[in-house]
Amino acid sequence: MKDYRSLKEVQTDLKSGLITCVQLVEHYIEKIEKNKHLNAFLEVFQASALAKAAEVDEKLKKGTMGVLAGAVIGLKDNICYKDHRVSAASKILKDYESIFDATITTRILEEDAIVIGRLNCDEFAMGSSNENSAFGHVQNAANPEYVPGGSSGGSAVAVQAGLCLASFGSDTGGSIRQPASFCGIVGVKPTYGRVSRHGLIAYASSFDQIGPFTNNVEDAALLLQVVSGQDDYDTTASKRPVEKYADQLEENKPKKIAYIRQCIESEGLDPEIKERFHEKLDGLRAKGHEIEPVDYPFLDYLIPAYYVLTTAEASSNLARFDGVHFGHRSAEATDIEGTYVLSRSEGFGEEVQRRIMLGTFVLSAGYYDAYYSKAQKIRRILRDRTREIFQNFDFILTPTCPTTAFKIGENIDDPITMYLQDIFTVQANLAGVPAISVPAGIHSNGLPFGFQVMAAEFQEGPMLAFAKTISNN
Ligand code: GLN
Repeated sequence: MKDYRSLKEVQTDLKSGLITCVQLVEHYIEKIEKNKHLNAFLEVFQASALAKAAEVDEKLKKGTMGVLAGAVIGLKDNICYKDHRVSAASKILKDYESIFDATITTRILEEDAIVIGRLNCDEFAMGSSNENSAFGHVQNAANPEYVPGGSSGGSAVAVQAGLCLASFGSDTGGSIRQPASFCGIVGVKPTYGRVSRHGLIAYASSFDQIGPFTNNVEDAALLLQVVSGQDDYDTTASKRPVEKYADQLEENKPKKIAYIRQCIESEGLDPEIKERFHEKLDGLRAKGHEIEPVDYPFLDYLIPAYYVLTTAEASSNLARFDGVHFGHRSAEATDIEGTYVLSRSEGFGEEVQRRIMLGTFVLSAGYYDAYYSKAQKIRRILRDRTREIFQNFDFILTPTCPTTAFKIGENIDDPITMYLQDIFTVQANLAGVPAISVPAGIHSNGLPFGFQVMAAEFQEGPMLAFAKTISNN
């Protein structure tokens, strides 16, 4: 069977009778098996995927299928699917089975997507390389010695290697866009509140958003449109009506685009990525777009503010995994305190423990004002400046990451270097604005890289249309 790279192609062949959904799912299952070494899938939901495929084949015959008919989709292992396991790639939730569907799962299934399995990621979505998974690292399909990025590494590689048509991940500080950049595909982080977080295992609740990974902007627009919108189960999900993003992609009037001087001049930016970025800007100018540098003199504050706030939120979100309410309970424990201490020490990996401790520290009585409350104030300044830029510009364009993927093992013992991975992506999460990474080409080292478009809150429609015009795919 051919390697499908867009939903449109799949649906054309389904409608003409060239293929069936069951054949499509069988094809992906075979391909996942052949690419087991990538370690992208933690589990294939063979029985339920084939059952759903048969159901969609029937609907196709009757003409009653939903808009995602034929879309075979993987879910990051922190998005719930009723009666299926979900572990956040953590030992503490190993073999835990969800008793409900995440809202995004319900919405894609209603439109006849087929969920094929759960995808590897960093434990509780904490990481930038997928090396923090309790179930092994993931290989970048462009070069097996390199990381796929993280935390949604499995979601990115599954799409990159054609093991499913699209996938969903979560993005708290870059976990969709950075792996999309490292793997040469499209990844979208929606506006905070555009997509319900119900059924997403929480990392940092005021940052987390679910979004799609796809081969092209068209599929991303459609998937985002399906999962967006109000939800009674998540009060932070916006009531604002959802636009038809997929119908707005042809818009290509000249735009006002800002690029952040401090990003482009930052020391860590790979010279070749910088050069290609300037070429892109020249190309856009030639097409009539207005491009201007802007100042955002806060680069040094982004990562500290992000890590103070997210670890604080994580320390409280992860309190529920205590060996009593959920998940792993130590066999060694003999009393209540021992149950907590041993279960959490055995269940959580090193990075998760580091963040729980950091978060507990910044929230503790004596340090709250010095860290947590100061970081909140910095977040406000960062958000206000971002909003101010969008008063004069349609989009902010940056490289998604300062570099291409790094080698497996290269940064794992150096948390600070790992945290600096997020330098260009965390701004969107701190400010709550939408952002997308689109493929920008292949570096002379053979690895892909991406460019990021950020837009003002709820401007996903124009952002996707612009991303389509600059995408190299
Ligand atoms: N790399 C960032 C972190 O470790 C981002 C993670 C994410 O977006 N989930 O927190």
